Amino acid sequence: MPHKKCPKQHTKRQTKTKFKEFENILEIRHKNLLEILDSRNGNIKDLHSSALKDDSDLAVAHIQGQLDCLIIEKYALELQEVESSLQKIADGTYGICEMCDDEISTDRLRAKPHARYCIDCREVYEKSQRVAKNDKANDDKATKSVAKSW
Ligand SMILES: [Zn+2]
Repeated sequence: MPHKKCPKQHTKRQTKTKFKEFENILEIRHKNLLEILDSRNGNIKDLHSSALKDDSDLAVAHIQGQLDCLIIEKYALELQEVESSLQKIADGTYGICEMCDDEISTDRLRAKPHARYCIDCREVYEKSQRVAKNDKANDDKATKSVAKSW
């Protein structure tokens, strides 16, 4: 969806102090995420350098590796969102929905300080995500039933 305005020309500029509380939370979360990602990357390196005895070890390591990748992906995404929120606080555009330019409620920001959308737009966004996921789930089902018949 195209942005109506350049964020720098936002008319609804927020004062920095208003979001001091969220800035603190985001900075702590940012630090935590960096630590988690650091240690996770370390684990993966350990995994690859450790000597694997047989095929079953290899299979377990492979699954574990895939799981780690998914977790890292999730945290990396959150890290991006946290960083962009911190940038928004610096720019004075924090707390404004990226889709409709409305203010995001403080309650919502308390629940999710790196929220990008207001409640209404979040619902629209999640619905579109769910449709994409359902398509994938159906594909998975089809793959599984094929595997069963083998
Ligand atoms: Zn919105």
